[in-house]
Amino acid sequence: MFSALLLAWYDQNGRKLPFRGTADPYRVWVSEIMLQQTRTETVGAYYTRFLARFPDVFALAEAEEEDVLKCWEGLGYYSRARNLHRAAKIIVSRHGGVFPADEAALRALPGVGAYTAAAVASIAFGLPCPAVDGNLTRVFSRFHGVREDVGIPSVRKKLAALAAEDMPPVRCGDFNQALMDLGATVCTPGTPDCDRCPLRLLCDACRAGDADALPVKAAADPPREIGVTVALITYQDTVWMRQRTETLLQGLWVYHLTENAGNMMDAEKAMGALGIRAVPRGKMGEARHVFTHRIWNMTVYHYEAESAACREGRFVTLSEMNALPVPTAMRAAKKWAAELLEGKRNER
Ligand code: SF4
Repeated sequence: MFSALLLAWYDQNGRKLPFRGTADPYRVWVSEIMLQQTRTETVGAYYTRFLARFPDVFALAEAEEEDVLKCWEGLGYYSRARNLHRAAKIIVSRHGGVFPADEAALRALPGVGAYTAAAVASIAFGLPCPAVDGNLTRVFSRFHGVREDVGIPSVRKKLAALAAEDMPPVRCGDFNQALMDLGATVCTPGTPDCDRCPLRLLCDACRAGDADALPVKAAADPPREIGVTVALITYQDTVWMRQRTETLLQGLWVYHLTENAGNMMDAEKAMGALGIRAVPRGKMGEARHVFTHRIWNMTVYHYEAESAACREGRFVTLSEMNALPVPTAMRAAKKWAAELLEGKRNER
C-alpha cells in the first residue's frame, strides 16, 4: 500500500529535474555525487556543464585532475570531484568502461557510500536497494512512528529494513526518487505538510500529532571557529598561490593562509619559511566560510614581495589565477586579489 500511494503521488507530483528521466549509470552517478552535499536546485546547472565537458566515463577518466576540479569549482567538497575522477579511471581500467550492475561493486568505488550505491543501483539498474538518506529517514521514522535517536546504527538499520519491506519489486528507482521528492516538498524537516501527503491516512506520526518532533536526533557538535590570516602576496602583476596538499581543499589553489593564527606576525614567519620576503601594505577586508566541521574567520592582508623568489607555490598572473581551480572559501580573497592585479585597488 505504501509504495502504491507513494508512486501514484510521484507520477503526478515528482519534480522535473535536469538529471531525471535517464537510466544512464554515468549520468545517474554524476548527479548523485553532486547531490551528496549540494542543494538540488544548485546541482542542475553544474550537472549540465559537467556533462558537456565530460560526456562519458571515458572522457572523465582521460581528463587531467586539475580540469575536473576546475569544472567542479563552486560546488565545494572537492574530494567528491577527485573521487569521481579516480572512480572513472577504475571503471575504465577494471570494468572496460561499463558500470557494474551490482550494489556491492558500486560501493567499492571511491566516493560511493551506501546511499549513492543504492541510488545508482535502483535508478540505473532497477535493483531493489533503499537509498537511506535524510529524506528517507524522516519519512520512515514519521510514517512508522520510530521514536528513537536515528544517529544510533541499530535504529538506522531498522529504518533501512522497513524501507526494504515497503519497496516494490518494480520501479525501485522511482520509489527512491519519490521518497526524495516527498521528503523535500511535503514531509519536510520541522512541520510537514501532512494535508498534501499521500500517506497521511496510514502515518503514525500524523495520527499521533508529533511529526514535527521526528526524527529524533541527538544534538550535533557545533563547528569549530578558526582564525585564518590570508596574505595576498603580490609581485609586480602576479600574486603568490599554492596548490593545497592538505585533506581539506586538497588539490585546489589558495593564497597564503596561516590557520589558527589570525595575526600578521605568524603569517610573516610562515612566509619567511617559504623564502618569501614581503612587506605589509594594509588590510583588504574580512571574510567567513563555513565548512561542515569548522568555520574560517579570515582576515585578508596585502603584502608586496621584494622578488618572485619562493621555495613553494608560485606567483601567477590574473589570467593564470582565473584558470586555476580556486575554492569558494577564497571567493572574497580572489576578488580582492583580482582588484590588486588589475591595479583597481591599492592598500587601505
Ligand atoms: S503524513 Fe505527514 S508526517 Fe506522515 S509521512 Fe506524510 S507528511 Fe510526513
